[in-house]
Amino acid sequence: MGMGKTIQSIALLLAEPRGKPNLIIAPTVALMQWQKEIEIHTNNGLSVALFYGANRQMNADALIQYDVVLTTYAVLESVFRKQTSGFNRKEGNVKEKSLLHSLDCHNSFFNVELLKPIQRFGAEGEGRTAFNKLHKFLQHIMLRRTKVQKADDLGLPPRVVEVRRDFFNEEEEDLYESLYSESKRKFNSYVDNDVLLNNYANVFTLITRMRQMADHPDLVLKRHLGLGKNTLVCKICDDEAQDAIESRCHHVYCRLCIQEYIESAAAFTAHPDCPICHVPLNIDLTAPALDVLDEENYRKGSILNRIDMSKWRSSTKIEALVEELYKLKSKDSMIKSIVFSQFTSFLELIEWRLRRAGFGTVKLDGHMTPQARAASINHFMTGPTVEVFLVSLKAGGVALNLTEASQVFIMDPWWNPSVEWQSGDRVHRIGQTRPVKITRLVIENSIESRIIELQMKKENMIRSTIDADEAALNRLSTTDLQFLFNS
Ligand SMILES: [Zn+2]
Ligand SMILES: [Zn+2]
Repeated sequence: MGMGKTIQSIALLLAEPRGKPNLIIAPTVALMQWQKEIEIHTNNGLSVALFYGANRQMNADALIQYDVVLTTYAVLESVFRKQTSGFNRKEGNVKEKSLLHSLDCHNSFFNVELLKPIQRFGAEGEGRTAFNKLHKFLQHIMLRRTKVQKADDLGLPPRVVEVRRDFFNEEEEDLYESLYSESKRKFNSYVDNDVLLNNYANVFTLITRMRQMADHPDLVLKRHLGLGKNTLVCKICDDEAQDAIESRCHHVYCRLCIQEYIESAAAFTAHPDCPICHVPLNIDLTAPALDVLDEENYRKGSILNRIDMSKWRSSTKIEALVEELYKLKSKDSMIKSIVFSQFTSFLELIEWRLRRAGFGTVKLDGHMTPQARAASINHFMTGPTVEVFLVSLKAGGVALNLTEASQVFIMDPWWNPSVEWQSGDRVHRIGQTRPVKITRLVIENSIESRIIELQMKKENMIRSTIDADEAALNRLSTTDLQFLFNS
């Protein structure tokens, strides 16, 4: 990320002109950015077709007129599937068929030579041989660099990470303590009765509620009841599901929420239960997102409509952010910031508060179309009065290029510290000229400070023993849970 892939690829397209069209596959959130960068850096010298959404009606004859065709992995996969099944029915033309055939060959090479041995033997014996093959194969087709290797070459400005620690006010403390003691009581009764595994989904939900309480009590007290028509509520975060996917038992979750759940449960079982109906969970984490709600329904579901905002009170966490932003503004009114949270309702409360404090804001959340996202990003990058960009972690915010900002605020700690590192990469990349500062906001004596302590403990342990195993950071063992609930 931020290593100049886009610019390098554009240079390659220009330096070695080849037959039309060139296919570029990118994450949805990055599509419009690719289109824009190609326009800027080639002076509109390359024609670009966006093969996405309504534009998917374009046929091969139309696409071939363009220098570059931009699409996403999900679109590519669904088109491929459709064609393959289509051919079975009515025998397509020979040329396209041979292309599909060669893709099938790759598929069997992938399955037989790589996937199966690795699944069966791991990194040992035949599995190791398969890993070596994969490594050789990727060397020829993949360009990959890590920032550590290249940071000096890129001449990037310094980057610091800081933790700001605040304490609950009295009212928040009371609310939090009652939630905490109730959660602790439940957790300990699961342990005492030896039914922790059966109740893992409940335990995970308890932790999520405590994390939300540390952000703002309303996230727990004014939870989404999901009674409205056509609303898909994720029962893990109790918000409108973002980047929503559905389990086989027809329950809907945010992709990120259910992924965190599965990863953390891996300490106990590879097959945790569905948090709603408790049958063994069967869900495809790579499935395309379900159709998003229309704008109107989405707005109706907003937390701002569930609260009487005339009587609303802010939270310690939000006020800590406001204070940080005021400090920045008084030093340099041109500084721009990005604010990340995992909880969409929290971003809405933050936005409401910041606007009243006189900050220009723009928001990126998971239900936006690529065009709407591009407009938000553009507004932030070019609008002189837009100072704060609020980004939902569920909106694929990790693929953005936001070098206009130099300050990052991470409002809630995440299980996986590498996600945090990646969020910093949104601003710490080619084009950045100012020093970058990343601030993590943490409430002391809450689940948040324990999560951070747990992360540090694990990281030290993992680094000192074997090669870094990222998955281990996400898993929550019984000991980890004991630490979170009982220390
Ligand atoms: Zn969720
Ligand atoms: Zn279910």
